[in-house]
Amino acid sequence: MPDNRVVQGRMVTPKRLAELIEDDTVMEADSIRDAERECPECGGDVLSVGYMPSVTAFVTGYKCQDCDWGTREE
Ligand SMILES: [Zn+2]
Repeated sequence: MPDNRVVQGRMVTPKRLAELIEDDTVMEADSIRDAERECPECGGDVLSVGYMPSVTAFVTGYKCQDCDWGTREE
């Protein structure tokens, strides 16, 4: 799938990336985008993905491609 990206050396789908950020399963995930921000931990490139952790919620998650750092915004 063209949407897949490499994160910490592993190829991930948008849904898998969202699950790494959420540390739980998610219902739906949009395409992965470049967040155009630097990781505060290591200065690496950050990816963003919009996803639905539940039927009533939509959040944007951010994850560093190189380390464990990640965050989410409601
Ligand atoms: Zn990082």
